[in-house]
Amino acid sequence: MNNPIPYGRQHITEEDIAAVAHVLRGPMLTQGPSIGAFEKAFAEYIGAPYAVAVSNGTAALHLCAMALGVGPGTRVITTSITFSASANCIRYCGGEVVFADIDPDTVLLDINAVRKLIEAHPRGYFSGIIPVDFAGYPVDMAAFRALADEHGLWLLEDSCHSPGGSFVDANGGSHRCGDSSLADLAIFSFHPVKHIACGEGGMITAGTEALYNHLMRLRTHGITNKPGDFTPPYDGEPERGGWYMQLRELGYNYRLTDMQAALGLSQLQRADAMLARRREIAARYDNAFAGTAVATIRPTQNVGHAYHLYVIQTDNRKGLYDHLRAKNIFAQVHYIPVHTMPYYQQQGNRPGDFPLAECYYSRCLSLPMYPTLTDDEQQYVIDAVLAFVGR
Ligand SMILES: *Cc1c(COP(=O)(O)O)cnc(C)c1O
Repeated sequence: MNNPIPYGRQHITEEDIAAVAHVLRGPMLTQGPSIGAFEKAFAEYIGAPYAVAVSNGTAALHLCAMALGVGPGTRVITTSITFSASANCIRYCGGEVVFADIDPDTVLLDINAVRKLIEAHPRGYFSGIIPVDFAGYPVDMAAFRALADEHGLWLLEDSCHSPGGSFVDANGGSHRCGDSSLADLAIFSFHPVKHIACGEGGMITAGTEALYNHLMRLRTHGITNKPGDFTPPYDGEPERGGWYMQLRELGYNYRLTDMQAALGLSQLQRADAMLARRREIAARYDNAFAGTAVATIRPTQNVGHAYHLYVIQTDNRKGLYDHLRAKNIFAQVHYIPVHTMPYYQQQGNRPGDFPLAECYYSRCLSLPMYPTLTDDEQQYVIDAVLAFVGR
């Protein structure tokens, strides 16, 4: 193969380009009609009551941490196998991140490890949990909801890897990843390697109108111009003109532009087809590696995996990575455990603290996984992997 094969990439069509050009020819580059249209369509796609578009997934996490009341003294549990933003959002608000180990079968935050951690401390010690649908494998949010309710905690689902994913709970109830029916809030990213690309972009889904209104305000500086949202003390004007607005609290400028929203909305039209293609690619990898020394993660029957990543595990990971690289295949590692990062070591974490996450990290490699990967390209990747690892 002459062209490099990355682990993930966006898919831009002529329709996408036309949608962005349409905004550029119009009067509003930001806060235009595409934003509300994208929010509405995304909420419908995910099955969530409310959606708030923001400038990126990290901003989405930050605003959720604010809306959930994270501050100094707040302790929040998350996984070490995630992008660091899942943890950083707690630090932005001055809270403390407490990691728990993974379940090696799913690579997701291990609910039993979380339960043990919570039960080892007095009630009220922890405030919330941030489970991550790592690689697109849906977290059992029903089980986490029950645990959270038992201990009075909130849940923030990092669904960046799982738009379109779903699972069936122990009672037969069906849930879509990030629909905020079980979690208090959920977030998504529209970075180009994710399912839907906006360039930069993010979305929060909320289960209640109160959280929705609060997040809408926080994304625009903390300002509201809705009379229903006004709060005393007023400015003393007996009759407020059309210009009147209030800065109610300290927020941020975390808005998405109308161009980005138009791109996201256009991409969303193909979301089902793109997810179907990801699943097709995963099934081909599964078949190719069955019975070989290449370990794969097999979802259980009750989950609809969204396959942001296709992760394999192997003893000589560095050797395989270099071998693929020499063949123009740019596999990637997801993730270096967050607790081992120098910043989180400064916060008191140490290598060795979470052995299952660290063992997974030493063996993992993400193979190319994106809707426009051709069958020939995928076969070339499979042959290269098996040539190195052995059939
Ligand atoms: C991509 C990602 C984020 C952050 O999203 P950005 O849009 O890049 O800020 C957060 N969490 C996870 C798990 C991600 O993969």
